[in-house]
Amino acid sequence: MATGNAIRGTRVGSSAVRWAESPADRAETIARRKVEYWCANGHHTEHTFAAEAAVPATWDCPRCGLPAGMDEANPPAPPHTEPYKTHLAYVKERRSAEDGAAILAEALQRVRARRGE
Ligand SMILES: [Zn+2]
Repeated sequence: MATGNAIRGTRVGSSAVRWAESPADRAETIARRKVEYWCANGHHTEHTFAAEAAVPATWDCPRCGLPAGMDEANPPAPPHTEPYKTHLAYVKERRSAEDGAAILAEALQRVRARRGE
């Protein structure tokens, strides 16, 4: 590992110290804007972005994890979470009732044929 080179290569202190005399001075020079988000559960989140930063349209609610939007009256809908489905539910999704009746009739036919009916 070239650890020594990496340390020698970084020059964090030298350039930063000059303009950041104190934290207060720095806060004034960086324009910021406060953006408010609301999630579908009514949680309110404030987030501060640098003025030139792209503000995301949605923000994950830190309290419940749902996407939160900037419109309080119209928060983004919770993502559609697939509820647990039984095997039968999946089958019903693929097959209509008519299909099911046909398959059942077919199966019964096979059973009866096997029994010699
Ligand atoms: Zn929330």
